[in-house]
Amino acid sequence: MDQIPALPVFFAIIFGFLISACTPQPQVTERNVSRIIETLSSDQMKGRHAFGNGIEKAADFISTEYQDIGLSTLPGNNNFRQEFSIYSLKPSQASVSINNRELGDQHYFGLTNAETVNWTADNSTIHYISAKDDYRDKFSEYSSDDESSVIIVDEEHEKLFHKYRTYFSRSNRTFELGSKPNDIFVFFDGRVNNYDITLQNTVKSQQLANVIGKIEGKRKNEIVLFSAHYDHIGVVSPVDEDSIANGANDNASGVSAVIELARYFQKMPTPERTLYFVAFTGEEVGGYGSKYFSRQMNPDEIVAMFNIEMIGKPDVDGANSAWITGFEKSTFGEILQNSVSDSNFVFYPDPYPNQNLFYRSDNATLARLGVPAHTISTTPIDVDQDYHRVSDEFSTLDIPHVTNTIRAIAKAARVIISAEKTPTRISNGDENLTSND
Ligand SMILES: [Zn+2]
Repeated sequence: MDQIPALPVFFAIIFGFLISACTPQPQVTERNVSRIIETLSSDQMKGRHAFGNGIEKAADFISTEYQDIGLSTLPGNNNFRQEFSIYSLKPSQASVSINNRELGDQHYFGLTNAETVNWTADNSTIHYISAKDDYRDKFSEYSSDDESSVIIVDEEHEKLFHKYRTYFSRSNRTFELGSKPNDIFVFFDGRVNNYDITLQNTVKSQQLANVIGKIEGKRKNEIVLFSAHYDHIGVVSPVDEDSIANGANDNASGVSAVIELARYFQKMPTPERTLYFVAFTGEEVGGYGSKYFSRQMNPDEIVAMFNIEMIGKPDVDGANSAWITGFEKSTFGEILQNSVSDSNFVFYPDPYPNQNLFYRSDNATLARLGVPAHTISTTPIDVDQDYHRVSDEFSTLDIPHVTNTIRAIAKAARVIISAEKTPTRISNGDENLTSND
């Protein structure tokens, strides 16, 4: 073989070596983090209330970021939105007559997600909560069974009855109309010989959307989720003429993490496991985004969920640390802790167990289904002056801290993404986890 062609080969080898030695690891930059948070928390987005008029802009912005990064959409979707409807029901008209006597609206409340309900002896059962019964026990027994009932409440329970009536007479929301058995509680003394009851709700349908991008891994049925809610509380009563709750920390900071993690992992070689980047809607109004999402997934395929909330300010323990809710419920926290043990960053258990944070964010819905789903956060919520206030502004955040935290999450997540480590499942024996609507 001729000597001359060997020279380019030699250079190619040297050059290739130099390139690979000099190619930097993908970087999470302060510039991107600050751009994302500043945009999402600008007054233009009107506080991103799930049912408000700024949320669309936020969803568009996140979609454009996913597009630029090069994420894939979910199967069957041609964009990053996971759209769904939610119905709001508000009691409007009613006619309630017992023993041929018409009752005033102070005397009843219904539990129903149907537009119109009519209770007759043919389609409902009658129960009594007598003076000696425990009202709360009986209420939960009759309201959770599978039959439609008329429940007659003895006047002895007047106080509790009215408390519950006030609560349940407000509007409520549901994914499906008429999917539940209908119960009506009636405040009435004595036996019931006959009844004729009709309730009507005014129904309004509203569109919501999660924003989801994907990096397909070698294993399609093993999914790692990175999530944060992008909605906030919207426009509130003004303080010093500012009425927009911008939600920079809660939770534009978390969304910046989801987007930057997507950018980071997209630049890495194809991961072993499949990665979902999910911006949830409706967290602040009842967790509807994560509830809808969880219904579309097979929870057994979700290996871990990194839910990120309020990482805009360092905890009282200082920078270079983040805490994990429900730390003891799976090995997720321990895996993260060990993965960054060669750095100066620490993950540690949630220091506010009394705040029940594990159950207060979007991770809870999937945790109830057994997924090791935890929230990572850093803000000292017991002393933070800006939480759910108009002062939760971009200017109050510590961008180097946010960036540093995202880098730590990226580093910690690598062993789970590569399938070297798999956190244990959350057991559904946990009492606080069993109720779900
Ligand atoms: Zn939040």
